[in-house]
Amino acid sequence: MKALVYTGERAMRYRDEPDPDTGAGEVLLRIEAAGICGSDMHAWHGHDPRRVPPLILGHELVGTIEAGADAGTRVTVNPLITCGVCDYCVQGRQNLCSRRGMIGMTRPGAFAQRMSIPRSSLIDIPQDMGLRQAALTEPAATALHALNLCQRALARPLGEARVRVIGAGAVGLLAALLARASGCAQVSLAETNALRRAAAEGCGLRAVDPRAEPEAEEGRFELVIDAVGSRHTREAALRAVRPGGVFMHVGLQDWASEIDMRKLTLAEITLLGTYTYTTADLRATVRALHAGVFGDLAWVEERGLEEGAKAFEDLDQGRTPAAKILLRP
Ligand SMILES: [Zn+2]
Ligand SMILES: [Zn+2]
Repeated sequence: MKALVYTGERAMRYRDEPDPDTGAGEVLLRIEAAGICGSDMHAWHGHDPRRVPPLILGHELVGTIEAGADAGTRVTVNPLITCGVCDYCVQGRQNLCSRRGMIGMTRPGAFAQRMSIPRSSLIDIPQDMGLRQAALTEPAATALHALNLCQRALARPLGEARVRVIGAGAVGLLAALLARASGCAQVSLAETNALRRAAAEGCGLRAVDPRAEPEAEEGRFELVIDAVGSRHTREAALRAVRPGGVFMHVGLQDWASEIDMRKLTLAEITLLGTYTYTTADLRATVRALHAGVFGDLAWVEERGLEEGAKAFEDLDQGRTPAAKILLRP
């Protein structure tokens, strides 16, 4: 089969690879499309010690079951391969399973014509579901899981909150779209890339350049979602959040920082972390995407898998307005 293989720092090769083995309890999928995630970019930069080259990356996908009784059925997947028996798994909090692995990390991923995966990881989708909607399930579930955690921490219903999302990448944009669909009348994004600001505005969302923003915006938001996760964005998030508000940390570009513990304490800020999604979140997200809750996803771009190396470079250089590029084998 053909695959896009991460071969070393900033190096992607489109080449022939052996067809994947299918172990006991596994199924073979023919990949329809797979999205490039921020974590794939992170690996490509050589910054992820868990993703060791040579490796087929990619964990956001829609595909078709290749063989067996349900051959031809379209599905998406939970990319986290979990043990199913630990306390977290039993509670349905699979994202915290300490024995978890992940496709595109501890086993080959979806930037290929075919991929094998445990049958227990399959997530059913309506068979008429659009390719973009289905392929966006994973990042949209990340946004949904994060907003569910926020909802539990906010003093008032989410719909009443003034929401600021930092970073108009896919997860930031999806979080903003979901917040709006959840009734938030005031949702804005802070994004330094003008192309991405324009894309967010194309979805009817307000997008501001944080470098040009007046100080009056500080301390205004009941909920601030940091979908970047750098030292600068964490500082900006803590400035933006209102006393008694919630600061949700989603992105993880780098992790060394000092937090203003004085403001956190005296202003009674709730600081939350979030990691991926549970199987229940993925199922709920499929229903939401299919119902159009996240809009038409016109901002998603599709390219051929053979052009994957250039897609990584374009994303790195900020040359595309698309917050998500799907690669189609
Ligand atoms: Zn992802
Ligand atoms: Zn487990």
